[in-house]
Amino acid sequence: MNFDGFDLVVIGSGFFGTTIAERAARELGLTVAVIDKRTHFGGNSYSEINQETGIEVHPYGTHIFHTNSEEVWTYINKFTEFTDYRHRVFTVHGERVFSMPINLHTISSFFGRHFTPDEARALVAREMAADSIGEPANLEEKAIKSIGRPLYEAFIRGYTMKQWQTDPKQLPASIIGRLPVRFTFDDRYFFDRYEGMPRDGYGAIFRNMLSNPKISLMLGVDFFDIRHLIPSKTLVIYTGAIDRYYDYQFGELGWRTVDLEWEVANTPDFQGTSVMNYADADIPFTRIHEFRHLHPERPFDGQKTIIAREFSRFAKAGDEPYYPIATPQDRDLYERYVALTAQEPNVIFGGRLGTYRYLDMHQAIGAALKCFDTQVAPRFTTGKPLSI
Ligand code: FAD
Ligand code: UDP
Repeated sequence: MNFDGFDLVVIGSGFFGTTIAERAARELGLTVAVIDKRTHFGGNSYSEINQETGIEVHPYGTHIFHTNSEEVWTYINKFTEFTDYRHRVFTVHGERVFSMPINLHTISSFFGRHFTPDEARALVAREMAADSIGEPANLEEKAIKSIGRPLYEAFIRGYTMKQWQTDPKQLPASIIGRLPVRFTFDDRYFFDRYEGMPRDGYGAIFRNMLSNPKISLMLGVDFFDIRHLIPSKTLVIYTGAIDRYYDYQFGELGWRTVDLEWEVANTPDFQGTSVMNYADADIPFTRIHEFRHLHPERPFDGQKTIIAREFSRFAKAGDEPYYPIATPQDRDLYERYVALTAQEPNVIFGGRLGTYRYLDMHQAIGAALKCFDTQVAPRFTTGKPLSI
């Protein structure tokens, strides 16, 4: 393997690395090597067809594309068309099914009567007063403050315990900030202006983005096995884990991972929807994914469907890191690693592993477009050194 002829070496073919590679090859005509230790491109957003059922699956969990960014939407639409899929999630509590995120339909079903928006707000205000919560100090307080204790206990406590293996009183309030509460009957999971599923799948997006002849893709190659072969002056975009880059010299950053338990079920339709959450603590998994429902526009006459039950836990060495836990100690550790990057004039750390941040796909693309404009392009067009 020889890297002498490359202007740029990108480590990781997820959305961050692939966006940089695509821009560099297309806008600047650079020769780019993209390396990934996995045997497929696309990082965690990758999708492929399950041979037994013919259904497209997301091996790392259901991925829905959504964004408010005009720039990201315009960019990604060069590589795919999107369907008009709108994500809706349901949650099982006891023997009953409710709409999630919590909205007027959830509240009306839960209390068994019709609530107007004003009545629902008044109910929550009474609950808040009963719990006399001021500025919420943790996830539990924040949730009770926005929905009241009965709804919190039904839909949030058990699910959150399963997802984080941590008492919600010990978790930061910010986690629940990702989940909206609506005093309307709008039951869409995401509220962004643009949403959809790539018509031909995520695999096709990456294939299109990486199709430039100036890009060489090397799969099944770990950066740490070949880093000595990359000339020291070559610009490297590194989207692997930042603590691994520095050989964990200050310790390991904390991550959560998920285990997906796959099953081909002997029925054309297992649950009638793409994602069903399980709110109760006595059900060990957090949710079930049924992938065929992500593409209702595709003709389907199969007799089997493929599902995955999701279990959540802390990541150990060797597990796939999925969600940064980001305790204050983790943040300190991360800052110590960031301080070391000042000594690397030819390496840019990016993406969710390289910057220890939870990034949705549109955020990974948006961050890569910005990195290209402010760091990569100036370096090649004006010789400007990296500003880290
Ligand atoms: P990644 O996709 O993780 O890519 C990093 C790549 O680097 C990987 O391919 C990895 O193999 C490679 N790599 C790492 N170390 C090395 C090394 N040493 N040598 C070579 N290669 C290396 N986002 C949404 O917008 N909508 C969703 O519905 C959604 N659902 C999600 C569900 C789950 C369960 C998870 C975990 C994430 C979800 N996301 C979702 C987030 C989405 O997966 C990320 O935004 C995206 O993966 C970030 O891209 P990235 O390039 O930063 O990282
Ligand atoms: N959550 C919950 N019940 C649900 C869905 C979510 O309690 O049915 C909480 C849980 O604490 C979770 C957070 O809301 O960690 C954010 O949910 P989201 O679906 O964004 O989490 P993700 O699946 O992306 O981790």
